[in-house]
Amino acid sequence: MGQPRPRRLALVVAPQPGESFASWIDRMATDMALPPGRVADAIGVSNAARATDGRPLLFGVALSALERTAIHAATGVAPATLDAMQLAAYDGTVLDLHDLAAVGWARKARSRQWALFGHSRACPQCLAESGGVWPLWWRLGLAVVCPAHRRLLLDTCPTCEVPLRRGTTTNMRVLSRTLLVAPSMCGSRINGRVQHKGCEQRLDELVAEAADRWLIDVQAAYLRAAGGAAMTLAGQRLSGAAWFACLRAVVCMARAAATHLPLPPSVPLPDTARRAFLADITADWRRSSGVQSPASRPPTAALTASLLVFAAPVVLTDGRAGLVEAIRPIAEALLATRAHRKKQGNSNGLLRAVAVPTIIDQARLLATPRRNGVVAHLGPFARSPAARPALLEHRHIPQVVTTSDYHDLIAEFLPDTLPRTGRRYTALALARLCGATTQISGSR
Ligand SMILES: [Zn+2]
Ligand SMILES: [Zn+2]
Repeated sequence: MGQPRPRRLALVVAPQPGESFASWIDRMATDMALPPGRVADAIGVSNAARATDGRPLLFGVALSALERTAIHAATGVAPATLDAMQLAAYDGTVLDLHDLAAVGWARKARSRQWALFGHSRACPQCLAESGGVWPLWWRLGLAVVCPAHRRLLLDTCPTCEVPLRRGTTTNMRVLSRTLLVAPSMCGSRINGRVQHKGCEQRLDELVAEAADRWLIDVQAAYLRAAGGAAMTLAGQRLSGAAWFACLRAVVCMARAAATHLPLPPSVPLPDTARRAFLADITADWRRSSGVQSPASRPPTAALTASLLVFAAPVVLTDGRAGLVEAIRPIAEALLATRAHRKKQGNSNGLLRAVAVPTIIDQARLLATPRRNGVVAHLGPFARSPAARPALLEHRHIPQVVTTSDYHDLIAEFLPDTLPRTGRRYTALALARLCGATTQISGSR
């Protein structure tokens, strides 16, 4: 059932450094005066990359060996250059695409991986200067500002309100075989019968909001991590992936606690970002557990920018003391949010789907020490036996930990466990951490 090998095309637009695969196809389409779906057919983008309903599955995410060979044969573009245009170029840094071949990957990835699989953000000035080249990094989940023009990236077209490069309001039909859209035009099909050409908004004429230095700094650090650079956080050397895991966790924590985390008025922030933050506080997802949760990628650049007000100082901090200080507002807001939810009878763990790296978790616990209860004091050491306080022995541990400690720190890790049982288990576990070797010596 092999497809015929595409013939070498006479004229091929050269990909620009950092350009996304979809952008390159769009520019070739304009050059050849052929809809992008036809160009994709001509160069050998297989139907496996697009579902029968038109939604792109792996288009722009990864190339199969067969496609790579075919596209190279048709266009003469080096295989490594073709791979660099796929989101998989960020696999192992700010994305984890190791299970790409698994069934149902596309659906799962959309919720777990912080990337824009079906649309892109954009800097209008970059589009104007490049003649419509869309960089790949605009599709990363935390792409927020353009470092060159110091502007907030746009998410949606102001005219049709469809996310950029999504194609239509309902489906993500980026590879149309009938409609040719210029790289600097919106082109979304809102109502095909009325508007044959799609939305005619020129994207390169829009003006995005100015962004401040601090936002550029955290964006630049994120892009370094995405590129695989070694990072430091609180004096600790981290891989790009580990640093991003910290950033992601802190963004999630800030979003989860946003109801009790006021935006400081002194921090310079675009107006849309402030509005997005306030809108997210009252958003529906906080009341009903649907597709969105605190673990989800914040949907827009504006909302992300507002959450970075709290997350940037944490991930860009130098020393360990600075880390605890930087995370304190978030840690306190998390406690307040938890208490508020408990009062309303909601005992679901606020961060249960969020993977919080140890360095962040320890800083959070150190930032909000409790006067009572041994659990609060032991919390920071629980995951790092090396840091166990030498003077603390298992005979100091009570048989049952206090109710409040159990609820605040442990309960969410022991779902479906009766508090009575959980408090006892916790005490035993703490005793073990302090050197008790048997249950008997632990429960003494
Ligand atoms: Zn720009
Ligand atoms: Zn539009």
